[in-house]
Amino acid sequence: MTVDPAPPAARIGAGRVVVVGGSVIGLACAWAIARSGAADEVVVHEPDDSGPGGVPTSGAAWVAGGMLAPFSEAWPGEEAVFALGVDSLRRWPGFLDALAPHVPPGPPVRTAGYTHMLAVDEADARDLDMAMEWAASQPDPTRGTDPAGTNGGVTEADLRRVTRRELREAEPSLARVARAAYRMDSEGAVDNRVLLAALTRACRAEGVTWVRGAVASLDDLDADRVVLAAGTGSADLAGLPVRPVKGEVLRLRSRPGCEDPPRGVVRAFVRGRPLYLVPRAGGLVVGATQYEHGDDRQVTVAGVRDLLADAETIFPGIGEYELAETIAGLRPMSPDNLPILGADPRDLRIVHATGHGRNGIALTPVTAAAVVATLLGRAVPGAAGAAVPDRFARS
Ligand SMILES: Cc1cc2nc3c(=O)[nH]c(=O)nc-3n(C[C@H](O)[C@H](O)[C@H](O)COP(=O)(O)OP(=O)(O)OC[C@H]3O[C@@H](n4cnc5c(N)ncnc54)[C@H](O)[C@@H]3O)c2cc1C
Repeated sequence: MTVDPAPPAARIGAGRVVVVGGSVIGLACAWAIARSGAADEVVVHEPDDSGPGGVPTSGAAWVAGGMLAPFSEAWPGEEAVFALGVDSLRRWPGFLDALAPHVPPGPPVRTAGYTHMLAVDEADARDLDMAMEWAASQPDPTRGTDPAGTNGGVTEADLRRVTRRELREAEPSLARVARAAYRMDSEGAVDNRVLLAALTRACRAEGVTWVRGAVASLDDLDADRVVLAAGTGSADLAGLPVRPVKGEVLRLRSRPGCEDPPRGVVRAFVRGRPLYLVPRAGGLVVGATQYEHGDDRQVTVAGVRDLLADAETIFPGIGEYELAETIAGLRPMSPDNLPILGADPRDLRIVHATGHGRNGIALTPVTAAAVVATLLGRAVPGAAGAAVPDRFARS
């Protein structure tokens, strides 16, 4: 367990807390802070209210696939990223229960309750087997060790290899192209846009208020504590090593007579490229490309072409769907793929909650918990200890 430093003024009722950035991370933090009693007043500074119900559409959260995916994202060497993702995944059921009264009428927040991960060619199948074997050998940060000092690690519900027949029975609309397939029953996906709407309503219900405008300098804010959750905007505001990594997704709508979309999330490597199909009410999301192009949010012809070609390899029925939306967003990536969570070592008034890269939706519950713990001067979730901001100064 790691205890982040917190000045005495940050104890219960820390006065006015300003959250900079009101997308998924900022909203979840604001809601959690308001519910926890860690502040007398919570104010979100967010310039963008262009979406339904006033949610921002310029952040990555509006674009995202919404997958909760520590197991299917697992990669050897990323132990800390994996542990934080598993910790957050275990928090999702409770998080969704607390959010339930605030979900607007319409589709639910949770859109898929499991994931299949496939590889289409031999080389990708070898990589997939290697990554899944590594994930299965990892300890589960939310389970204690037994007296012998061992940790049961991940379970069969988290991760198991399935046969082609099992895959076909679970996802009959997929082409029979998988050379290797794994099922993750504890993963799944949420509808990112419903999540933003529900968090906005939850914040309002707790008395959170908004200031509509971009923050130019953290020093000028009238605040006892500041939570920085501005996605790629955090780099300029606090000199953090957060860079934009562009991603494009397609949103497809079902039409009469279309093949049913996959029932759960389907992820695959096709021609060496990562692909995912994420069910949504009335359709699915296909993603995602990845480019290091700076602040570029334009959707390219090549991006759409590759996504459609790869998706059709996995799910041949896709051609009958309506191509309802193409959109690009900027993932706020840190150098080591871990977010930047905790008090700024140079200014303890500031708490960072940024740099979530590809996993900001998935990491929302653990991030909110870590920020509240930091404001209260309590122990942060153990897996969040590796994400402290001063790790870059030390390296
Ligand atoms: C194509 C794509 C697919 C993705 N898929 C997934 C997925 O399946 N699962 C997953 O977990 N994650 C996914 N992500 C990543 C996820 O969307 C991000 O990690 C997450 O949105 C980060 O949340 P955030 O609130 O920190 O930043 P953002 O959502 O980017 O929002 C930042 C907010 O800060 C505001 N802001 C910026 N500058 C300022 C300023 N100066 N003052 C005030 N406000 C400011 C912006 O207006 C914006 O609203 C995906 C991202 C992309 C692009």
